[in-house]
Amino acid sequence: MALDNFIGGAWAPARSGKTDPVLDPATGEAIAEVASSDSGDIDAAVQAAAAAFPAWSHLTPRQRSEYLMKLADAIEADLANLSAIESRNVGKPVSIMEFEMDLTLDNWRFFAAGARFLEGRAAGEYLEDHTSMLRRDPLGVIASIAPWNYPLNMATWKVAPALTAGNTVVLKPSELTPMTALRLAELAADILPPGVFNVVLGDGEHAGASLVTHPDVAMVSLTGDVATGKAIARAAADSLKRVHLELGGKAPVVVFDDADLDAVVSTLAEAAYYNSGQDCTAPCRVLAGPGIFDDFVSGITDAVRAIKVGDPQDPETGMGPVVSAAQLERVVGMVDRARDAGAEVTVGGSAPGGPGFFYDPAVVVQPDQRSEIVQREVFGPVVTVQRFTDEAEALRWANDVEYGLASSVWTRDTGRAMRMARDLQFGTVWVNDHIPIVSEMPHGGFKQSGYGKDMSVYAIEAYTELKHVMIKHT
Ligand code: NAD
Repeated sequence: MALDNFIGGAWAPARSGKTDPVLDPATGEAIAEVASSDSGDIDAAVQAAAAAFPAWSHLTPRQRSEYLMKLADAIEADLANLSAIESRNVGKPVSIMEFEMDLTLDNWRFFAAGARFLEGRAAGEYLEDHTSMLRRDPLGVIASIAPWNYPLNMATWKVAPALTAGNTVVLKPSELTPMTALRLAELAADILPPGVFNVVLGDGEHAGASLVTHPDVAMVSLTGDVATGKAIARAAADSLKRVHLELGGKAPVVVFDDADLDAVVSTLAEAAYYNSGQDCTAPCRVLAGPGIFDDFVSGITDAVRAIKVGDPQDPETGMGPVVSAAQLERVVGMVDRARDAGAEVTVGGSAPGGPGFFYDPAVVVQPDQRSEIVQREVFGPVVTVQRFTDEAEALRWANDVEYGLASSVWTRDTGRAMRMARDLQFGTVWVNDHIPIVSEMPHGGFKQSGYGKDMSVYAIEAYTELKHVMIKHT
């Protein structure tokens, strides 16, 4: 399998000859050594993408769609292989791969056709003897910077809408999880014209930062941490590059006393610990009403105790390790500090030790609203539960974080659900569910969860610029 950069349709090692190890999180052992890029490699990739832009952007939407549909077919034919690569590189149990791979394929198919449906307002005469029309033009070279939690799926959300709109792309996957991006490049090599899609490997500090500051990059699209988003927005400011940021989350789950308790418990036991809780929309912050609080805590505690943690390759495993030693340290530290501050950990909450980055999934009861574990993203298999007294307090606590990505409300009272949906400051509000996503609907944040939308036609629009053409009648 390829381990080098994919630039201009060809494979190239880092010019420095340097490589970075890629680890299997279940064992801590290296599974590959991949190119470690610096500014010279980044420049080559951006130049290749810039050279490919005129021809790609001049294709009709139908022609681009046909290319991307072929790539979607190749992804579908390779799905079992992609799934195995992702499972190994991220430590994802094989039992949970289907959802993510199916979504990825559907995202490609949706975006492949997407540029055929872009709309502008009506053309017409807004000045006597002049006709105005609006075009939606691609921007040029897009730098797509992806995280490690859903490597192929997050790369898809960045790359596919940019390509369908007529841009060319340089993708930098996370240094922890580059393997499916490489496989995607192998598939694309036989289908897309050279330079339309490029992959450069390396860390954020060197490869990522060079990409963000490259003068020929028109826009940077990041899915990652809030701190990374701020660093990129600052770095992009000098050249006034467009920035599209999908950042962290701290999703509240507001459970009123009239909620269907079994539905909340079973949804959370799955969704909050799915992918070891390393999900920006994970239902990780439960606010439960006074009448349902005790039953919810005992229900979720029992359900979490039943999660089978272990070898991701075992089909019986429900939860694997977290992605890295650093991530494990973060989760351990946050739960330990919450416990020290007086919260009760009713299940799990420790690292068993031994090889791999495993953590026992935890429920943390009654942390303080201002505490670190409520205010900061854990990004691990941890749910906090707080008891609220009334709807006003539930809403206040739900909104009282810097993040604004996703939220859910659980109630049988339609009026209350509508009020909460209006007032929750999050890019998604689910009612009586939490986690389902579809290609047609936008995903993105309010507040420090970033700006710009992934998925949906709004994502495609984000990779275009409106142009006014005014024609004087002769
Ligand atoms: P991260 O910010 O550490 O890394 C993301 C990417 O940015 C990586 O490819 C990294 O190499 C690169 N990077 C880091 N510093 C950079 C810099 N200065 N310049 C350019 N590139 C740089 O994030 P992560 O740890 O890989 O992913 C986890 C984070 O992603 C979490 O905060 C999670 O909430 C967020 N996330 C958000 C969404 C969403 O849709 N909002 C989805 C998935 C993950």
